[in-house]
Amino acid sequence: MLGGMTDPECLFCKIVSGAIPAEIVLQNDTVLAFRDLAPQAPTHVLVIPRSHYPNAAALAAGEPATAAHLFDAAAEVAGAEGLHDNYRLVLNTGPDAHQTVFHAHMHLLGGRTMGWPPG
Ligand code: AMP
Repeated sequence: MLGGMTDPECLFCKIVSGAIPAEIVLQNDTVLAFRDLAPQAPTHVLVIPRSHYPNAAALAAGEPATAAHLFDAAAEVAGAEGLHDNYRLVLNTGPDAHQTVFHAHMHLLGGRTMGWPPG
Protein backbone atom coordinates (compact mmCIF):
# COMPACT_ATOMS: atom_id res chain seq x y z
CA MET A 1 0.00 0.00 0.00
CA LEU A 2 1.21 3.51 -0.75
CA GLY A 3 2.09 5.91 2.05
CA GLY A 4 -0.50 8.51 2.89
CA MET A 5 -3.37 6.14 2.14
CA THR A 6 -6.48 6.08 4.27
CA ASP A 7 -9.21 3.45 4.56
CA PRO A 8 -12.67 5.01 4.93
CA GLU A 9 -13.83 1.98 6.94
CA CYS A 10 -10.87 2.05 9.37
CA LEU A 11 -11.53 3.14 12.96
CA PHE A 12 -8.05 4.61 13.46
CA CYS A 13 -8.18 6.48 10.11
CA LYS A 14 -11.37 8.07 11.47
CA ILE A 15 -9.46 9.12 14.61
CA VAL A 16 -6.69 10.57 12.40
CA SER A 17 -9.25 12.57 10.41
CA GLY A 18 -11.07 13.73 13.56
CA ALA A 19 -14.32 12.00 12.57
CA ILE A 20 -14.11 9.96 15.81
CA PRO A 21 -12.89 11.75 18.95
CA ALA A 22 -9.91 10.58 20.99
CA GLU A 23 -7.84 11.95 23.84
CA ILE A 24 -4.78 12.91 21.83
CA VAL A 25 -1.54 13.27 23.79
CA LEU A 26 0.92 13.88 20.92
CA GLN A 27 0.70 14.52 17.21
CA ASN A 28 3.03 15.54 14.43
CA ASP A 29 3.23 15.22 10.64
CA THR A 30 3.53 11.45 10.63
CA VAL A 31 2.15 10.01 13.89
CA LEU A 32 -0.65 10.45 16.41
CA ALA A 33 -0.79 9.22 20.02
CA PHE A 34 -4.02 8.92 22.00
CA ARG A 35 -5.26 7.17 25.13
CA ASP A 36 -6.64 3.66 24.76
CA LEU A 37 -10.39 3.45 25.39
CA ALA A 38 -9.92 0.36 27.60
CA PRO A 39 -6.67 1.03 29.48
CA GLN A 40 -4.72 -2.00 30.69
CA ALA A 41 -2.27 0.03 32.80
CA PRO A 42 -2.24 3.48 34.45
CA THR A 43 -0.71 4.76 31.21
CA HIS A 44 -2.03 3.07 28.06
CA VAL A 45 -1.48 5.11 24.92
CA LEU A 46 -1.72 4.00 21.29
CA VAL A 47 0.85 5.44 18.89
CA ILE A 48 -0.24 5.17 15.27
CA PRO A 49 0.94 6.36 11.85
CA ARG A 50 -1.32 8.84 10.09
CA SER A 51 -1.09 6.63 6.99
CA HIS A 52 -3.09 3.43 6.86
CA TYR A 53 -1.06 0.23 6.95
CA PRO A 54 -2.61 -3.00 8.23
CA ASN A 55 0.21 -3.81 10.65
CA ALA A 56 3.63 -2.72 11.85
CA ALA A 57 5.58 -4.81 9.35
CA ALA A 58 3.66 -3.29 6.43
CA LEU A 59 4.34 0.17 7.87
CA ALA A 60 8.07 -0.55 8.25
CA ALA A 61 8.21 -1.74 4.62
CA GLY A 62 6.20 1.18 3.24
CA GLU A 63 7.31 4.08 5.46
CA PRO A 64 10.39 3.06 7.46
CA ALA A 65 10.97 6.59 8.76
CA THR A 66 7.42 6.72 10.12
CA ALA A 67 7.92 3.33 11.79
CA ALA A 68 10.93 4.81 13.60
CA HIS A 69 8.85 7.86 14.53
CA LEU A 70 6.47 5.56 16.45
CA PHE A 71 9.34 4.69 18.81
CA ASP A 72 10.38 8.34 19.14
CA ALA A 73 6.80 9.38 19.91
CA ALA A 74 6.38 6.57 22.45
CA ALA A 75 9.54 7.68 24.28
CA GLU A 76 8.33 11.28 24.26
CA VAL A 77 4.91 10.33 25.66
CA ALA A 78 6.53 8.05 28.26
CA GLY A 79 8.62 10.99 29.41
CA ALA A 80 5.61 13.28 29.57
CA GLU A 81 3.73 10.63 31.57
CA GLY A 82 6.61 10.39 34.07
CA LEU A 83 7.43 6.78 33.15
CA HIS A 84 11.13 7.52 32.56
CA ASP A 85 12.63 4.31 31.18
CA ASN A 86 9.96 1.97 32.61
CA TYR A 87 7.38 1.04 30.02
CA ARG A 88 6.34 -1.68 27.60
CA LEU A 89 5.75 -1.35 23.84
CA VAL A 90 3.48 -3.92 22.20
CA LEU A 91 2.80 -4.45 18.50
CA ASN A 92 0.08 -7.07 18.14
CA THR A 93 0.14 -8.57 14.65
CA GLY A 94 -2.68 -10.85 13.55
CA PRO A 95 -5.76 -12.20 15.33
CA ASP A 96 -3.83 -14.85 17.30
CA ALA A 97 -1.77 -12.03 18.83
CA HIS A 98 -4.98 -10.12 19.68
CA GLN A 99 -4.77 -7.56 16.91
CA THR A 100 -8.32 -6.22 16.66
CA VAL A 101 -7.75 -2.98 14.73
CA PHE A 102 -5.99 -3.48 11.42
CA HIS A 103 -4.29 -0.08 11.25
CA ALA A 104 -0.70 -0.34 12.53
CA HIS A 105 -0.42 0.73 16.16
CA MET A 106 1.98 0.53 19.04
CA HIS A 107 0.69 0.13 22.59
CA LEU A 108 2.61 2.11 25.22
CA LEU A 109 1.90 0.63 28.65
CA GLY A 110 3.33 1.78 31.94
CA GLY A 111 2.76 2.94 35.47
CA ARG A 112 2.62 -0.52 37.01
CA THR A 113 4.85 -3.59 37.26
CA MET A 114 4.35 -5.89 34.25
CA GLY A 115 4.21 -9.68 34.24
CA TRP A 116 6.06 -11.95 31.82
CA PRO A 117 5.20 -13.84 29.67
CA PRO A 118 2.27 -11.73 28.44
CA GLY A 119 -1.06 -13.53 28.19
P1 AMP B 1 -5.18 -4.34 19.31
O1 AMP B 1 -6.01 -5.33 20.10
O2 AMP B 1 -3.71 -4.54 19.47
O3 AMP B 1 -5.62 -4.30 17.85
O4 AMP B 1 -5.46 -2.91 19.94
C1 AMP B 1 -6.56 -2.12 19.61
C2 AMP B 1 -6.79 -1.20 20.77
O5 AMP B 1 -7.64 -0.15 20.36
C3 AMP B 1 -7.47 -1.86 21.99
O6 AMP B 1 -6.60 -1.79 23.11
C4 AMP B 1 -8.75 -1.05 22.16
O7 AMP B 1 -9.08 -0.85 23.52
C5 AMP B 1 -8.39 0.24 21.48
N1 AMP B 1 -9.51 1.03 20.96
C6 AMP B 1 -10.56 0.58 20.23
N2 AMP B 1 -11.36 1.60 19.87
C7 AMP B 1 -10.80 2.73 20.40
C8 AMP B 1 -11.15 4.12 20.39
N3 AMP B 1 -12.24 4.56 19.76
N4 AMP B 1 -10.35 4.99 21.06
C9 AMP B 1 -9.24 4.55 21.70
N5 AMP B 1 -8.85 3.26 21.73
C10 AMP B 1 -9.63 2.36 21.09
